[in-house]
Amino acid sequence: MFYESFPAERFFTEITTESEARTLLWRSRFQGKEFQCPTCQAEAFYAIRTRPEVRTCRVCLRQVRLRAGTIFQASKTSLLLWVKAVFYVMQGTRGMSAQELQRHLGVKSYGRVWGMLQKIRSALQHRDAGYRVGNGVLELDAGTFGRRASGNQCDVLVAIETKAWVDAKGQARSRAGFAKILVGKETKAHAQQLVDTGMRPGALVNTDGSPSLRYVAGVDLDYQVVSSDKDVCERWLPWVHKFIANAKAWVNGTHHGVRVKHLGRYLGEFTYRFNRRHDVPRLFHQAVVACLLAPPVTFCALS
Ligand SMILES: [Zn+2]
Repeated sequence: MFYESFPAERFFTEITTESEARTLLWRSRFQGKEFQCPTCQAEAFYAIRTRPEVRTCRVCLRQVRLRAGTIFQASKTSLLLWVKAVFYVMQGTRGMSAQELQRHLGVKSYGRVWGMLQKIRSALQHRDAGYRVGNGVLELDAGTFGRRASGNQCDVLVAIETKAWVDAKGQARSRAGFAKILVGKETKAHAQQLVDTGMRPGALVNTDGSPSLRYVAGVDLDYQVVSSDKDVCERWLPWVHKFIANAKAWVNGTHHGVRVKHLGRYLGEFTYRFNRRHDVPRLFHQAVVACLLAPPVTFCALS
């Protein structure tokens, strides 16, 4: 069975039992194989009928537990429910609120579904954390999320790879690549942190006249003061503004606003989907792999 691209009608006929969900996770973990020992790379394994979430290497006897070291660790939720949750969240371009997911999964407790969603988001966020943007010219800017009146407001710094060219008909064209975000006040220190952890050294960066963004070191930075003129702004930093506007619409529309302390995980999901928008058929598979590769999330980190 091949899971890379999994249309809904196949998912709901092929993944109906705990055993099928487990098989999907084992194969996703080992790149399509039934097993590959993390210690000695051997592919032969022992399975115990009474403990189907454990496989043991035939060569070095290393035990691999399916949930250990993943976001499913210490969870009493069935793997079938987990896999279904990931499937629903990765359908479509907008994801799902906890309420919608609760309805789809038929689970009584809203809190339980909300916690699952947060763990999935944290895995998606973790998956992109190590990537550094630097292809083409980066657009760098910040947007403010939430409302000041409610005390629930936070800046988000966004950097996006872009490529511009002139097509055969002489039309100016441009395309966006990977995006990278940092949730935090728009300060020089945070801008530098985004550069140091998320950009390749020497990357070409365009930004606006904001003093907190234009004095970062380690990249080749150019800026235009655009705050007073919307047209100039649209021409100079089109993609980053589109990203911020869409992210705000998503947070407010799909999720009816998000508390600042959770914003990083929500925008982690948004950015994950944005970064893979040209590869939608493989989104579910990639998200399952992300869940298996991300470290466990403690309850304290969520509350
Ligand atoms: Zn081994």
